[in-house]
Amino acid sequence: MRVHANDGISAEGKALMVQEEFNVTTEHVPQEKLADFLNAQKVDALLVRSATKVGKDILDACPHLRLVGRGGVGMDNIDVAYAKQKGVRVVNTPASSSISVAELVMAHLFSLTRDLYKANRRMPGEGATAFKEMKKAYGNGAELRGKTLGVIGFGRIGGWVARYAIGAGMKVIYTDRHATVDHLDMEFNGIPFSVGIKMVPMEELLDKSDAITLHVPSNPDNSPVLGAKEFAQMKRGMLLVNTARGTSVDEQALIKALKDGTVKAAGIDVFRNEPTPNTELLAQPNVSLSPHIGAATAEAQDRIGIELAELLIAWRDEVTVDRG
Ligand code: NAD
Repeated sequence: MRVHANDGISAEGKALMVQEEFNVTTEHVPQEKLADFLNAQKVDALLVRSATKVGKDILDACPHLRLVGRGGVGMDNIDVAYAKQKGVRVVNTPASSSISVAELVMAHLFSLTRDLYKANRRMPGEGATAFKEMKKAYGNGAELRGKTLGVIGFGRIGGWVARYAIGAGMKVIYTDRHATVDHLDMEFNGIPFSVGIKMVPMEELLDKSDAITLHVPSNPDNSPVLGAKEFAQMKRGMLLVNTARGTSVDEQALIKALKDGTVKAAGIDVFRNEPTPNTELLAQPNVSLSPHIGAATAEAQDRIGIELAELLIAWRDEVTVDRG
């Protein structure tokens, strides 16, 4: 069976496929030449991350294609409904990067509480001339221990963020449209234990949280989960982290809240207009910024590659049995 990974795949994932006798190619083919390449190579399964688009054009042009695998969570770059209509299986690896995103949330939270992001911006240029001034300016930090973290959306990533936050001594509450988790299974130095956790209504979460982190998918109509109404209900001087989707937060309402002190500081990994985010938001003095790198770690890439290989093996075994 022929597999083409157009946006790369981890060495472990590729090795597992080769071991299972898949014929794997991994060189990146530009979007406009992809259909010709897939047809010439008679590719059965196309693996992508977020860069390659698999729309109607590719699905119509490549009758040989039987599976599309997305390494990661979002399926925005794949026409899933049309693929299904054409009988092309679509798979993804939603759990592979949850820990990586959760660790980025903690990185932003620690950076926000200690003004690390501000000090990092100024130290290279002014460390030797304004040391004392900066020591004073950034010497009013706070600890995370004992503070309340509100998690909006308690799925895979939300659950991992809660584990890390509990490990840092935070109290965690959450709200979710569907999930009703009442405990978390954790592990400390190899010893398993369980921690009770409380779901609260959104209003209570907004009112009680010292820090809020979002882990919801984008709403179908791209309406925000946090807008002016929700900012008005937040504790003054709270911290906000968004690693979900840019559309999950009303960016204009956030800018206002950052200016008026409702939000003391925000950690932002995702933006409404990627890859050209709102420059007014980027220019706020109290934002710790990263360019949508939540899932981008070596460990997540390894897990994604292995999970894709395992999905392919299971699919091959299934279709082989069906044909047999
Ligand atoms: P998940 O499906 O496991 O969990 C999402 C949870 O949100 C579900 O429990 C759902 O019931 C809940 N939910 C949905 N809409 C809600 C709403 N309006 N209010 C309250 N709860 C709501 O998803 P996940 O794997 O935890 O991922 C969450 C999101 O993180 C993804 O959808 C994606 O947008 C984002 N993400 C970002 C990165 C990154 O690089 N920054 C990487 C991976 C995922």
